[in-house]
Amino acid sequence: MSTLVIKDLHVSIEDKEILKGVNLTINTNEVHAIMGPNGTGKSTLASAIMGHPKYEVTQGTIELDGENVLEMEVDERAQAGLFLAMQYPSEISGVTNADFIRSAINARRGEGNEISLMKFIRELDKTMDFLEMDQDMAQRYLNEGFSGGEKKRNEILQLMMIQPKFAILDEIDSGLDIDALKVVAKGINQMRGEGFGCLAITHYQRLLNYITPDHVHVMMQGRVVKSGGPELAQRLEAEGYDWIKKELGIED
Ligand code: ADP
Ligand code: MG
Ligand code: MG
Repeated sequence: MSTLVIKDLHVSIEDKEILKGVNLTINTNEVHAIMGPNGTGKSTLASAIMGHPKYEVTQGTIELDGENVLEMEVDERAQAGLFLAMQYPSEISGVTNADFIRSAINARRGEGNEISLMKFIRELDKTMDFLEMDQDMAQRYLNEGFSGGEKKRNEILQLMMIQPKFAILDEIDSGLDIDALKVVAKGINQMRGEGFGCLAITHYQRLLNYITPDHVHVMMQGRVVKSGGPELAQRLEAEGYDWIKKELGIED
């Protein structure tokens, strides 16, 4: 079992404090959902875990199986088994999707342990079939001209190919029609198991109809203010966030 432990995390962007003491522990074999209103720092949390240079950690710790994640460079974090599916995946012209994924797999596996080309192609074919993706998307430049839905599906393709220990999915459901949402959920559910933990950031309960989370957390004003099971997401869907604000005495 692996564990990702976030303690008292404070993060600033351009000297403005966005995260004000986030505590969160995720084990492999668990899916956690983080919900919360816009602008509460959900994407900031994702970026800070992955080591985006713009996000300055001013206090607190992030540890992966006892290793200090905050001391790792971005590529070292990926190698250690952290993966981020971004809210807005970037387009990279000149790099094919297949080459990008193979490099990422090899970076994760380390020197001397590279995946063979045959095995890579076989796995890629199989996974693209599973995700109902057009085979020609492998040879297109990364995300270039991909529709919103194709980009999100492609993030799941990367996830399934790279096989990280922990995936952070930032609004993977936004902009997806129901068929694409089901495919994305199918991929994540396929990953579930002993060696995999997931933090799914979402605005809506909808995704959680297809991926039943083990734990649900609500983030407000830079903190995790409430945690519970799947029923918490359902209550948020039905009643919004006002009852939590009242319960906790949070002002808008
Ligand atoms: P969420 O994902 O919950 O909607 P974000 O983490 O994206 O929230 O944003 C939290 C706050 O940080 C917002 O007030 C937002 O304006 C601010 N913020 C996020 N990214 C940046 C950035 N790159 N530069 C300046 N401010 C930012
Ligand atoms: Mg947002
Ligand atoms: Mg966000």
